[in-house]
Amino acid sequence: MIKKVVVSFPADQASRPLIYELIRKYDIMISIIKADIDGRRSGKIVLEMNSDADHIRQAIDYMIESGMEVSPLESKIKFDDTKCINCGACTSSCLSGALIIKAPEWKLRFEPEKCVVCKLCITACPLKLFRIEFND
Ligand code: SF4
Ligand code: SF4
Repeated sequence: MIKKVVVSFPADQASRPLIYELIRKYDIMISIIKADIDGRRSGKIVLEMNSDADHIRQAIDYMIESGMEVSPLESKIKFDDTKCINCGACTSSCLSGALIIKAPEWKLRFEPEKCVVCKLCITACPLKLFRIEFND
């Protein structure tokens, strides 16, 4: 099976060879879809894991037990555009380009198909207009 997950990790885990560990311990083929890591602070990576269901579940448990947050990529970001003041704070945190403000309107545009559910906009928005929704 193939499962896509967003892995958030604290600063003390940022330089850890996570991909190597997952491949060695759980025999998983891994593709990195997106990464935001600099080795000195917390970071996020979006992984596609290809293996049998047991190995993938064990790998996810291992990451969680190691202090990482793991969210399924099946989750979606919802955005309440009725309250947006177009301040742009969320756009600089959105590495995938799903949130953009451009001339001449200078209005926030959200393109959900580009969203990798990194959740950075949730904390970036001063009005807390973003929330995460999980598919059943
Ligand atoms: S979760 Fe927010 S910041 Fe992350 S890619 Fe989606 S819209 Fe951009
Ligand atoms: S940070 Fe919040 S209020 Fe500002 S543009 Fe983004 S969604 Fe709108």
